[in-house]
Amino acid sequence: MKILIAGGGIGGLATALCLHAAGIEAEVFEQAPSIRELGVGINVLPHAVKTLATLGLLPALDEAGIRTRELIYANRFGQTVWQELRGMDAGYDTPQLSIHRGKLLQVLLQAAMERLGPTRIHVDHKLVGFQERDDRVVARFERTEGSGSIEADGDALIGADGIHSKVRSTLYPDQGQPTWSGIMIWRGAVDWPVYQEGRTMVIAGSNTSKFVFYPILADPTKPGRRLTNWAVMARTDAEKTPPGRGDWNRAGHLEETLTFVRDKFQLGFLDPVSLIEATGPFYEYPNCDRDPVARWSFGRVSLLGDAAHPMYPVGSNGASQAILDATCLAEHLSWSASIQEALSAYDAERRTATSEIVLANRKGGPEGVIDMVEMRAPDGFDDIERVATYQEREAIVRGYATMAGFARDQVNRSGG
Ligand SMILES: Cc1cc2nc3c(=O)[nH]c(=O)nc-3n(C[C@H](O)[C@H](O)[C@H](O)COP(=O)(O)OP(=O)(O)OC[C@H]3O[C@@H](n4cnc5c(N)ncnc54)[C@H](O)[C@@H]3O)c2cc1C
Repeated sequence: MKILIAGGGIGGLATALCLHAAGIEAEVFEQAPSIRELGVGINVLPHAVKTLATLGLLPALDEAGIRTRELIYANRFGQTVWQELRGMDAGYDTPQLSIHRGKLLQVLLQAAMERLGPTRIHVDHKLVGFQERDDRVVARFERTEGSGSIEADGDALIGADGIHSKVRSTLYPDQGQPTWSGIMIWRGAVDWPVYQEGRTMVIAGSNTSKFVFYPILADPTKPGRRLTNWAVMARTDAEKTPPGRGDWNRAGHLEETLTFVRDKFQLGFLDPVSLIEATGPFYEYPNCDRDPVARWSFGRVSLLGDAAHPMYPVGSNGASQAILDATCLAEHLSWSASIQEALSAYDAERRTATSEIVLANRKGGPEGVIDMVEMRAPDGFDDIERVATYQEREAIVRGYATMAGFARDQVNRSGG
């Protein structure tokens, strides 16, 4: 059995590694001329880290990222709304990881190169079309260098080609552009003095004006400092067409970004303006997604990761759910009677679960907790209990964790 994977992002490479671990041949085709360290910080939740740990990647990931200890939701004055331990500090059997997206990608790429072999990982191969012929699927790729266009055939094609997936737009030609919430996200990373014990993530403000801050790398040569990821989310427009088609890599502009931060956040423990000013190049990304679809798998073709369930980047689920897709797909392919049966079982299992997350993220996901407090107490509070009870806050945060499959009792039940 040979599986073709379009897209060499976190989803595509995780799929290749899971398939390889299940004894299934896989070949990855990435459109970019090289797999580069693009993006900034990303979080991987414990249930997805479990897959990476099973693949033997935890030591490399520990060197490249940080085991998140604590998550604090706060209002824009830095007052704590909700605080909880995360990962192994919360009793999971695997950590939550805060890591540079590019470093995570490199760990996956290096493992894929070693295990599948470099001849199975192709760059500069842009998927432009595919067809089922008899019991094969034939995919066509365009190259900017060398031979122009080439064909490859396999038993199945997995579209792990991101929010602008060619596989998805072929299956759903009328889907159009991603839908934009009108909220822009600016993201950057900068070397910064350690906050608390250096493993804390803070999400402050509300879903229409939010500041996120967490460390992603501890360089042993720089004690007391961390490579620190930040993000600002702010409502800028109500139009539905995202600027720049929803590209992850557009440069952000300092003055525009600071407009949404100056005089808005008085966190006390950190000055966001100084942090942003100290950052080199940073990026903007329109908060966009797509409506869930009724089906991912068609015969020998299916979707995975952002191609299947592009979602707002809240709740740390973008990479996590792509990795869970990879695990599930490899399991079904290794035991089902036919490819079609495996792909449709994978579709049934993962599509419902992730569609729910896409829709929940539109409402703010777990960060609904800071929205609720901002709405009820926009000028701050003396006693959080009088603004929102513990039970109200818990229902939002833990309700999301259960839905996204990482509530602690679920992990323990599945063998933790
Ligand atoms: C450049 C970039 C930066 C990002 N930065 C962040 C970040 O800072 N924080 C965050 O939370 N999330 C970020 N993300 C998104 C995050 O990586 C995904 O939400 C998540 O990891 C799911 O990954 P994926 O592999 O499904 O999709 P993606 O990470 O989008 O990967 C899809 C891959 O498919 C390739 N591809 C697209 N079309 C084709 C084609 N026709 N043929 C072949 N290959 C194709 C793309 O080049 C890309 O490498 C970023 C994504 C990208 C592409």
